[in-house]
Amino acid sequence: MSDDCIFCKIARKEIPSEVVYEDDEMIAFKDLNPQADVHILFIPKKHIASMNDISGEDARVMGNILLKIKEIAGQNGVSEGGYRVVINCNKDAGQEVFHIHVHLLGGRKFAWPPG
Ligand code: AMP
Ligand code: ZN
Repeated sequence: MSDDCIFCKIARKEIPSEVVYEDDEMIAFKDLNPQADVHILFIPKKHIASMNDISGEDARVMGNILLKIKEIAGQNGVSEGGYRVVINCNKDAGQEVFHIHVHLLGGRKFAWPPG
């Protein structure tokens, strides 16, 4: 946990969010500034700043996040049409919040390559 991290605060319920799913190790909530009809962020409750900071001990939660994304994508009706799963790491990828988060985006067609 990090005292001044906005996503740690969301995990601790110190700032409100629209929680979609929660268990002991992760929480999923709607993005405040959605870029698609479905835009949900999945975070480990443990403070990990970015992809550069994950280690072997985080493999389980990061894997479980992917499994949960599959499930929530289905619940939101985007499994068949498709969806995008994104982790932005550091400045070249446009990471804004330095608590690792996985974006689930769905409900529209996405361009490739990404901008
Ligand atoms: P990234 O560029 O990958 O770091 O994305 C950060 C994401 O967090 C953006 O899509 C923001 O809209 C989203 N975001 C920032 N603050 C909040 C918040 N308090 N609740 C929900 N989403 C947020
Ligand atoms: Zn944090």
